[in-house]
Amino acid sequence: MSTSITRSTCPYCGVGCGVLIESQGDQITGVQGDPDHPANFGKLCSKGQTLHFTASPAVTAQTRLLHPMLRTSRGGPALRTDWDSAMSLAADRFHNVIREHGPDAVGFYISGQLLTEDYYVFNKLAKGVIGTNNVDTNSRLCMSSAVAGYKLTLGADAPPACYDDVNHAQCLFIVGSNAAFAHPVLFRRIEEARQRNPGMKVIVADPRRTDTAELADLFLPIQPGSDVMLFHGLLHIMLWEGWTDPAYIAAHTSGFDELKALVRDCTPDRVADVCGIRKEDLFTAAQWFAGLDDPRSGARKPTLSLYCQGLNQSSSGTAKNATLINLHLATGQIGRPGTGPFSLTGQPNAMGGREVGGLANLLSAHRDLANPAHRHEVAALWGVPSVPDQPGKTAVDMFQAAADGEIKALWIACTNPAQSMPDQATVRRALERAEFVVVQEAFATATTCDFADLLLPATTWGEKEGTVTNSERRISRARAAVPAPGEARHDWQIVVDFAQRIETQLRPGQSTLFPYDTPESIWNEHRESTRGRDLDITGLSYDMLDKQGPQQWPLRDGDAQGKERLYEDGIFPTADGKARFAALPWKPVAEPRESRFPFSLTTGRLRDQWHGMTRTGTLGRLFGHVSEPMVQMHPQDMERRGLKDGDLVHVTSKRGSIVLPLQGSASIGLSQAFIAMHWGPEYLSGRSSSGGVLAGVNALTTSAYCPTSKQPELKHAAVKVLKA
Ligand code: SF4
Repeated sequence: MSTSITRSTCPYCGVGCGVLIESQGDQITGVQGDPDHPANFGKLCSKGQTLHFTASPAVTAQTRLLHPMLRTSRGGPALRTDWDSAMSLAADRFHNVIREHGPDAVGFYISGQLLTEDYYVFNKLAKGVIGTNNVDTNSRLCMSSAVAGYKLTLGADAPPACYDDVNHAQCLFIVGSNAAFAHPVLFRRIEEARQRNPGMKVIVADPRRTDTAELADLFLPIQPGSDVMLFHGLLHIMLWEGWTDPAYIAAHTSGFDELKALVRDCTPDRVADVCGIRKEDLFTAAQWFAGLDDPRSGARKPTLSLYCQGLNQSSSGTAKNATLINLHLATGQIGRPGTGPFSLTGQPNAMGGREVGGLANLLSAHRDLANPAHRHEVAALWGVPSVPDQPGKTAVDMFQAAADGEIKALWIACTNPAQSMPDQATVRRALERAEFVVVQEAFATATTCDFADLLLPATTWGEKEGTVTNSERRISRARAAVPAPGEARHDWQIVVDFAQRIETQLRPGQSTLFPYDTPESIWNEHRESTRGRDLDITGLSYDMLDKQGPQQWPLRDGDAQGKERLYEDGIFPTADGKARFAALPWKPVAEPRESRFPFSLTTGRLRDQWHGMTRTGTLGRLFGHVSEPMVQMHPQDMERRGLKDGDLVHVTSKRGSIVLPLQGSASIGLSQAFIAMHWGPEYLSGRSSSGGVLAGVNALTTSAYCPTSKQPELKHAAVKVLKA
């Protein structure tokens, strides 16, 4: 049998690497990095290299959801049904809830792993047909603070830099990101840039001495949650030393005086104390960031910041993002090669979801729900009288509302909230109390499937068509190499089928708003919605992506290619064209450690696992790096408590407790502990504070969130650690 090659993308992280899928008949037999894809030029990390093994028949026979399944009683067996019955039931149950309780009694919780076309139809279904903004996504757990930070300061949710800037930067400021594990192919590019350019300085700020920190010329082991104080302290020093760029500030920004007054109190002594770092390191970091090795020359070396969940997953997430951007604006480190604030996207298509407005407070093409003109534009595009004006429930609030009985029907697609959401006790209550739960999913092994009344089998990587956008605004085509297994359907097809059925009940006699027969027909509508917006892609088509390869936005009608980096002209998408400084004060973490819970628990990724392990957990070789869950602590903390390597310990927060082995590690700060986020119920069981069964580290985490971005503080919870 001959081997076919299909060009697509890796479904894991936001680097968005291109892959060449090898297939024979209906089986994926191999995968290679795409040498022509600008995100990776042929490289793949351990996860990407093993994608084909996760799609082998031996694995998928055990993991995949292949038929619609119905559970007639909670906790009972899920029994096979047919698509027509399943979709009729779903439409009837949702319609009943809407008729009795109104449209806001239903909620859609979707995913940054969906393709842009899938996202678009979910958003249109909720806001255009049902009339609720209760559509949110696991991107809320991933990038919403980055969105809010960009909008607050630069005026639009648009990462201004690109991967190639790594090759131009003279200083890399990596903060709240373990790129070595979370974005390995980009990290390899950083390592190579450093080898080529020995003069490049790398600063890493992180509570843990991660593998990324091993690359640093200067490591700042900051206390969890102290980032805003660090950034204010750096600006304080820059001001004192004359390292800011007054000409750039005057020409291209507003609001600097207020910020200047705010950071006056952030003296090096205070900042060193709050952040737990040395004063002299603070000075070094400020000088390297400013890029003025010789201030008399005035020549400024370029600085690029790379950041991720350490800034985003925080009750101060927006402030962390915005105050880091302050530093770039104050020093003019933006809009030139090698400069800029550059948020690294956690998931493969969190960017695409933001582009179509698939969140509870957004509308299509970066429009704002709070803006009446934007609501009108979207309603006109869709051909509906209006879109609802009240913000929908964001992720945490959506599950809280279901737990409180306010949301009665939930539709969950391509994400696993029964493992990934913080405060699992509340999420379990929500899933148990909701009257009807639909789970649209490729993997039967996702924990959330256990709570579904109706399970809808979806296609996944290598089986579906559409587009994704990576961290550098680059849109790539995802392509199908093999047919859908069993009765699985594409996510967009499932949504369109449901939408057409519920339309007949909610909009009787009217023509459908979902006339799509291909992902391209959806994408073309999305493309038109971007006309005149900051992310305008009216010059881009599937045909162009096929012929010319992945492209960055914006790419307007008539453009030959997209824009590599933004704001080169110093004009920002704000009312006056100026970027805005954010004078936001530092606030401590939501749940500071105290005598009963004396450890700061941080969470994060492992190198070879992805999210809840539904895919990577099927391969023995990916357990070679870390084979079992463990909690890591500093050896001095262990010694003080009479604990040793391998001891089983209870790790307990106010919300729950889990038991796992202990491992000493000098990479962890004193009074801190670290647990990887991936381990689910097969590996890591525990109990809620009221005695219910829970699993994974999110039995412990808090749902406290940033008041602006609504992104929860998954990166910090106060815990105690006691021998089991
Ligand atoms: Fe996939 Fe990310 Fe690894 Fe690239 S770096 S192969 S996108 S997991």
